[in-house]
Amino acid sequence: MLNNFQSKRQQMVDSQLIPRGIRDKRVIDAMKKVPRHLFLDEALWPQAYDDHPLPIGEKQTISQPYIVALMTELLRLTGREKVLEIGSGSGYQTAVLAELAEQVYTVERIPSIAKRARRLFDDMKYRNIVITIGDGTLGWKEHSPYDGIIVTAAAPDPPRPLLEQLGIGGRLVIPIGNEFSQDLIVYTREDGNDYSEENHGGCRFVKLIGERGWRD
Ligand code: SAH
Repeated sequence: MLNNFQSKRQQMVDSQLIPRGIRDKRVIDAMKKVPRHLFLDEALWPQAYDDHPLPIGEKQTISQPYIVALMTELLRLTGREKVLEIGSGSGYQTAVLAELAEQVYTVERIPSIAKRARRLFDDMKYRNIVITIGDGTLGWKEHSPYDGIIVTAAAPDPPRPLLEQLGIGGRLVIPIGNEFSQDLIVYTREDGNDYSEENHGGCRFVKLIGERGWRD
């Protein structure tokens, strides 16, 4: 297909990301490159680059482009990092991370969603993504420590295993709040068991369901 939505992506960057303060050049380049529409049902392609979340089945959603860019920017990736994502969903955020980090591990609790994402990663030849099915509130200890952890579902509190699986200087980006609204929080592991916390404002995500999240 000739139209791979390149101009839609440029428009998305110019109208949704730059005016709201996304500055990291590498993040902007990744947002221009990754074909967001391919992570959605074809019926939704015309809306793929619009300024809102969209359904991906199983009552889950792909995040709004701005939120993907913001969360990614908050991880401060340079290309050498090992990153853990909780909530693979469509796989779009995962692909953006894979453009910007060395290695991405991602955990999804719903098998049908994880299988679809895995197929896309294979088709799109992302060789630095490993996806597994499981409860991401427990992290993925085997590959820890991580330079960055991103949770794309809302939690009541930061799950302890995720804080513990951060390396020194590592950053956890996660929406914290109740089931209707949250704040985007960055926890940075300063030293030993010392964490600093920054609030990056309001957001709304689907629930993080698991042992250290909400009950189903
Ligand atoms: N980044 C994704 C967001 C998908 S919505 C995207 O932009 O497409 C959040 C996802 O988190 C859903 O797919 C949901 O099934 C998943 N999820 C919720 N709780 C989880 C848990 N404990 N472990 C792993 N995935 C979880």
